[in-house]
Amino acid sequence: KLEFMERTLAIIKPDAVAARSTGAILQRAEGAGFSIVAMRLVRLSKRDAEGFYAVHRERPFFSELTAFMSSGPSVVLALAAPDAIKRWRALMGATDPAQAEEGSLRREFGRSIENNATHGSDGLETAAFELNYFFRGLELG
Ligand code: ATP
Ligand code: MG
Repeated sequence: KLEFMERTLAIIKPDAVAARSTGAILQRAEGAGFSIVAMRLVRLSKRDAEGFYAVHRERPFFSELTAFMSSGPSVVLALAAPDAIKRWRALMGATDPAQAEEGSLRREFGRSIENNATHGSDGLETAAFELNYFFRGLELG
């Protein structure tokens, strides 16, 4: 049953939305067995992006990352599947599209380590934080 399945927070990043890859990425997600539990098009402010990526605030690329993430609309998604967190990261491929596996989303849709098309939560705790960052409990069914 969907309500007992693991969920992950996925983002179709501004580069992929601008490239009109949203539909293709959603098709890949559903084709791989993920159910869309909640979905919204959002234009993050710089502060929204900083709050979302707060774990990376000490990293040298933090300001570029949050500028990019607030540069245009993103699609935020709650995806459900057995083992959703790990399986979505596998479908996305490595952070750097040049290193990402053949057939992965980042290999197909990403252009650089920064413009890498998609995001996925990296663990149960981050998934809980990130789902809650974008969606109200009711929207998650
Ligand atoms: P995400 O969290 O977006 O799913 P990830 O978990 O594969 O990606 P993280 O280490 O969490 O990678 O980095 C978050 C994001 O920061 C990456 O998706 C990427 O866009 C950007 N990033 C990571 N490393 C670098 C880097 N060395 N230079 C520039 N940007 C980077
Ligand atoms: Mg990450």
